[in-house]
Amino acid sequence: MKKELKNDYRAAVDILQALQGVPTPKAMTALDESFNQCRRWRRRLELANARNWKAAANDSADRLGGALDILRMRSTHAIDNLTRQTKPHLEPTETSVYRDIEGLRGEFEHVTIDRANQRITVRTSSISLEYVELGSFEIFLNWKFIKETSPYDVLAVEPNYPSSNHSVTHPHVQGESLCEGEGSDAIRRALDEGRIYDFFCIVDHVLRNYNPDSAYVQIEDWNGVSCKACGDNVDQDKVVGCCKCETELCLDCSTSCDSCGDRFCSECISSCGCCVDDVCQMCLKSCNDCGDSFCNTCLFEGTCDDCISKQNEASEEESRNTVQTVAAVHAICDGKATVPA
Ligand SMILES: [Zn+2]
Ligand SMILES: [Zn+2]
Ligand SMILES: [Zn+2]
Ligand SMILES: [Zn+2]
Ligand SMILES: [Zn+2]
Repeated sequence: MKKELKNDYRAAVDILQALQGVPTPKAMTALDESFNQCRRWRRRLELANARNWKAAANDSADRLGGALDILRMRSTHAIDNLTRQTKPHLEPTETSVYRDIEGLRGEFEHVTIDRANQRITVRTSSISLEYVELGSFEIFLNWKFIKETSPYDVLAVEPNYPSSNHSVTHPHVQGESLCEGEGSDAIRRALDEGRIYDFFCIVDHVLRNYNPDSAYVQIEDWNGVSCKACGDNVDQDKVVGCCKCETELCLDCSTSCDSCGDRFCSECISSCGCCVDDVCQMCLKSCNDCGDSFCNTCLFEGTCDDCISKQNEASEEESRNTVQTVAAVHAICDGKATVPA
């Protein structure tokens, strides 16, 4: 226990050093330097132009452009620094950072300090949003980078990925980075002022609150699958897979074959050429005569209705012709018919 307290105190000293040790960017000095660079390259450009040194003029123009670009960046930075200075700022001390670490140990069950890697890790308790269990998350603060834009990572301990995206572990966490949303200002300020306790509590709070407007994946789509035809979200257990190509569909977008009852996507279902029922390609048979496709009930001994009627008509015609011929022959025999001379 005593050893842990000692270690926590040493970590507090390290964190404070990281906060103070990184030289605060001397914005104004950097600006002066940029002004001088710009003046220098402008003088060279004028000189080169006056002497008609084309190559030197081009080179100086390029470099002046670059120097002006840096001047623009440094100006923005200087303005940011000025606005930050006007806000009241809390100065951290060894004791305040140490107390924060102890506070974290009281608030969270798992707090780990790794001085060798300059990292403090806090594990949240299990988080669920709108009845979706996301499990606990580990927040790693790399204090070496505490003054930089995003010195921390958020990792799901046992990720419950949404079915649609395996790089998202939480509606607001993609990969290992948190979309801070409205918490962004508070997080930055807590870090700037060395308020480690506040920092972890704010991140924990962001993880426990759901904002559909900034979610990578909507929480209601977490356990669903999107129908490949209409895009609607379908519960995993209500998804229909096309029996031929396995495309995932909602019930409305799949069609059942009137012969075998299996469900298919619109590409894989056909229809009978006679009764126009929906029939799958496995259940369709072609007519022996015309070759068109029909369902089983519309074929009689392998032949479609149309072909059967045509065959019937043909045989009737044939028998009519036979009757007429026979009648004619009889007439000649009876001497009733006039025989052409
Ligand atoms: Zn659908
Ligand atoms: Zn079928
Ligand atoms: Zn299909
Ligand atoms: Zn049919
Ligand atoms: Zn036919």
